[in-house]
This record gives sequence, C-alpha cells and structure tokens, in this order.
Amino acid sequence: MPGTILAVGAHMDDCENGAGGVILDAVQRGWRVVVVTVVSDFSTWAPTVGREDQVRQELLDLADRFGYEKRFLDYAYHQVEPNIQLKRRIAAIYDEVSPQIGLVHCPEDHWPDHRATGIAAKDAMIFAHGLSGNLQAPRCERIFGYSSTPHQMVSFEPDFYHDVTAVMEDWMRLVTGTDCCLSGMAADELPLHTVTVPASGDRPERTLRCSHHGWLKLAECVVWGNRGARCPFALGLKALWGPREGRPLFDD
Ligand SMILES: [Zn+2]
Repeated sequence: MPGTILAVGAHMDDCENGAGGVILDAVQRGWRVVVVTVVSDFSTWAPTVGREDQVRQELLDLADRFGYEKRFLDYAYHQVEPNIQLKRRIAAIYDEVSPQIGLVHCPEDHWPDHRATGIAAKDAMIFAHGLSGNLQAPRCERIFGYSSTPHQMVSFEPDFYHDVTAVMEDWMRLVTGTDCCLSGMAADELPLHTVTVPASGDRPERTLRCSHHGWLKLAECVVWGNRGARCPFALGLKALWGPREGRPLFDD
C-alpha cells in the first residue's frame, strides 16, 4: 500500500464534503484512507432522530462502496471540546494507522464542533507521542486543513491545490450519498443540479449530477482549479503542518 491518509471530521459528511476529492483520488491510487467522524450520537440531532442505526449503517455502506474506512467516536452534536480525552482518542487511531497525510478542519471555522475537532485532530497528529501511549510515535508529515462549506468558514484561504478533475463524478456521487444520509431522502428525491463539462483534450464531455453540498463544492473547485492548479476542478487546502513548497500529495 503506497500510503495512508487519516481524515478527521466533526459530522457525518464533513470529510466527504470538504476533502472527498483527495480521499477518492487517494483510494484510486491504492492508498488506505481512514475517515474518523467525531459526532455520531445521532439521537442528539433532530434530522436523524428515529433513524440512528440506519444512518450509521448507510454511512458505513457508503464508505465501503467508495473504498475508505469510516470510524465513529459517538460524541453528541455541538458538545465537542478540544480536550485531552478527544485528543487521546484521535491520537490512538493516528498511532494505529500511521498516516503520512492528515486532513482536518481549520480552526477558523464558525461551527464549534468543526473548530474543536480541527484543534484536537491537529494536536493529536503532531503530538501523538504524548497522547497515544506510544512515546515513539512520529509526527504526521503533512497536515492540511479543509473547508466543509463556504458559509461555515467565510475566511478560508487555501494555499495548496490538488487537481481533482478525474474524480469529480465519483465525488459528486459520494456527496449525494451523504446528503441522502443527512436528509433521510433517496437520491431520486433530492433536488439535483446538472452540469455539463465540455470535452477537453482526451477527456470526453461529462455530465455531473450534484446535490446541495456537491453543488457548493463544485463551485469552489472551479475557482480553485483556475487559481491554483490550472485545471477544470481543484480542491483548495490550507497547509497547517509540513512542507509548504507545493510538493504534490501523491508520487506518481
Ligand atoms: Zn459539519
């Protein structure tokens, strides 16, 4: 296996919405991707009350279908603090899976669960030697911050861009899947945006179907593709730890 990514998100869809392009690209390159969802007591959030077990199973099925691992830490909604308990739990997973790349929320996020999870996850991946029980645990080589949605983090300014053009269809399908889990609606009940991307080079014309969160991310990826990576779609990330010189995420 060429490498491992550990992605940590507060809510059921944060990693998938915020960093799904990199997650799927990594999976398709043979990397192991472990996604940790901190808040997963679905009895503490009105939209998921009454279908707690179903939501959990659907999220696991989605991860299975797209080739990554999903783990739940079972915190309640809006009750996450960046304390030692949370840092230790994330550090234990970090030490177990030994990732080369970490993906976390940025601490500037307006959502308190996002902020707390971002701080705890970054600390856990840099200071696992003091938190995991393994005194020899190395620091994560590279940690990037992602933004889940534009209105949750209006000040997000990426400084690293990864071309996600090849995985956009799959990413939009994945986000449609998490939007189904979130809403309790089937994919054919969700209002979907349809975007036709004209043929370019050896890439044929493509049609992307985007649910609400997919549409938001697609719009951002168009801007980031133009700004940072000179490609149709790029994911913008913020380098929080490790090299900032723009070394690509994956060695081809
Ligand atoms: Zn969230």
